[in-house]
Amino acid sequence: MKIVLNNLFVDKDFESFSGKVDIDTAGFEKFLVKSFSSCDININMYKVNDKIFIDFKYDMEVVYSCARCLTAVPRHVSESFSREILEEGDKFEEDIGVVTIKDGIIDVETILSEALFIDLEPSVLCSENCKGLCPKCGANLNEGECDCDLHDVDPRFSKLINLKDKLDK
Ligand SMILES: [Zn+2]
Ligand SMILES: [Zn+2]
Repeated sequence: MKIVLNNLFVDKDFESFSGKVDIDTAGFEKFLVKSFSSCDININMYKVNDKIFIDFKYDMEVVYSCARCLTAVPRHVSESFSREILEEGDKFEEDIGVVTIKDGIIDVETILSEALFIDLEPSVLCSENCKGLCPKCGANLNEGECDCDLHDVDPRFSKLINLKDKLDK
């Protein structure tokens, strides 16, 4: 979704938009995101003197992988924030939150991606007591013990190897 600033505020000082936006999970690997639902967006924009402000609200389902056992952990993520809109290169006061845009175009996906980087949780767990995966056979230890003898496995390395195997599948 792109909003062209020049088309706005012709004979009013308030604009609003809503709709659905899809975001790619590429770039969100460090949060172990499995999938994003379509995101509901609500935008209000208003002009005060020569300044333009945006109220941005979003609402979506995020499916994470548990940081220990990699099972799916769905979460509802909903946030809102207000910023001033400035063209790239414009000067602004450091203490004011801003959204910088390029060539007068508000790129809603970019604003949402940047917000998600701040709002998503790192290392989500399926439960506080998640037992993780067996470093040897990869069994989910929450579903029961396996028969592995773990005495000869260095847990520091095997855990990483195991995680990588799972992610490659
Ligand atoms: Zn888990
Ligand atoms: Zn095992």
